[in-house]
Amino acid sequence: MNNHLDHYRIGVIGLGFVGLTLSVVLANNGFNVYGVDTDLNKVELIKNRKTPFYEEKIEYYLEKVVDDKLIVSTDYNVLRDTNIVFITVGTPSENNGSQRLDYVIEAVNRLSNVWKNIDSYRLLVVKSTVLPGTTRKLAKIMSDKTGLEIGRELGVVFNPEFLREGSAIEDMEKPSRIVIGCIDEKSCRIIRTLWEELYRRLNTEVKIREMSLEEAELVKYASNIFLAMRISYVNTIANICEEIPNCDVNKVLEATGLDPRIGSHYLEPGLGYGGSCLPKDIKSFIWFSKNKLGYKPVLIESIDKVNEKQPYRALEYLIKEYGDLSDKVIGILGLAFKPNTDDIRESISLKIIDKLLEMKSKIKVHDPKAMDNVKKIYGDKLVYCNNPIDAIKDSDAVIIATAWREYRRLKPEDYLRLMRNPVVIDGRRIYDNYRDFVEKGVKFYAIGLSRKQCL
Ligand code: NAD
Repeated sequence: MNNHLDHYRIGVIGLGFVGLTLSVVLANNGFNVYGVDTDLNKVELIKNRKTPFYEEKIEYYLEKVVDDKLIVSTDYNVLRDTNIVFITVGTPSENNGSQRLDYVIEAVNRLSNVWKNIDSYRLLVVKSTVLPGTTRKLAKIMSDKTGLEIGRELGVVFNPEFLREGSAIEDMEKPSRIVIGCIDEKSCRIIRTLWEELYRRLNTEVKIREMSLEEAELVKYASNIFLAMRISYVNTIANICEEIPNCDVNKVLEATGLDPRIGSHYLEPGLGYGGSCLPKDIKSFIWFSKNKLGYKPVLIESIDKVNEKQPYRALEYLIKEYGDLSDKVIGILGLAFKPNTDDIRESISLKIIDKLLEMKSKIKVHDPKAMDNVKKIYGDKLVYCNNPIDAIKDSDAVIIATAWREYRRLKPEDYLRLMRNPVVIDGRRIYDNYRDFVEKGVKFYAIGLSRKQCL
């Protein structure tokens, strides 16, 4: 394969957050992309240039590339003449933490059927997050099924994805780094050339690192474990601050982060991490380490434990305030696991909702993007509000669970005027002017804010 764009026929299996973002970015830069997803509704939406989930800019790109540079289908046969195929299907975890590989294995099996007995070199790129050792096993499955010899006719790389939902396109177009885990030199060179070509077209400099398959698989986990560790660390310091008079964790962390060894980014206290990646990746890695390596990862287990408990801080404040919550109306602002997405997978809001439902509270919710996804789970168990004002109205407490920018515009006066009892729980530290809230008569709780100072 030479470097000319016409020689790249790229397949993407799994058109979710990662796969669709990858597809539109490649297609928008002149590559021919063939996307496959087993979800017919998703494929139909994409064909109609609609994003199946909320992510800025994707629709704008779909408008430009669908039916031209990007062809999508539920039929794997569109992949027959592709020479590089990315696997970007989900890798969720089981209840015990172990990683589910059924989607990935199905993708490899189905691709093997269309790549059987072909006579030109093909490259399989695993982009789904998988535990160390997995890509090598997938390579073997593919080689056995297709009859293609690894290294000679079949190349295999692991190429982790680091994009963040909410800024997926931006992250794909300006990645912090490209990690390539290789089985042999040839496959490494081909994928490196593809990325160099893409980022040359995007006029973006990228740092590319090549390593073994297993090292690359571990980089993804090492990164997510570190990010999760920062969050659980920050939340631990925050929880401690609440017990010490005159402490605001934001002041403590701002000064702490000035140490260049620590850095000030990603030091935001809150109700814990959620989403489709960190929780399941942490749990899978703990399972892997204990069961496959025989190493008890005490630090990582603690990260997970801190995070499991953190959402319920919001309820502890409520119970402190009211004791029994059975007749209380609780407003929840924010349902997505973070702002700028409609993704509610492992969202802490849902954990809070489940507990409040158990306690027989009446729950009013608002989210700018994620409401439909929540309706699919909870139906008429919740009151869905079209705007934050309605969610606040006549409530006994409001929990800010996702840091959507629009919630910052709400003033203490709004809460005082609208609520039955003005109890505000700032679970994401969106209000810097908390003194204003307290002075005006709002009962204000915030993660990491000393209870002994405010009340
Ligand atoms: P997703 O659930 O949004 O999308 C996965 C897609 O794969 C779905 O549309 C599903 O219908 C499709 N699919 C499942 N089995 C299939 C099959 N056999 N053939 C074709 N399509 C199939 O998942 P995602 O969030 O894009 O994550 C994909 C992978 O990337 C995961 O391993 C995840 O851990 C990793 N990752 C995700 C993110 C993120 O922010 N979402 C970031 C980095 C890495």
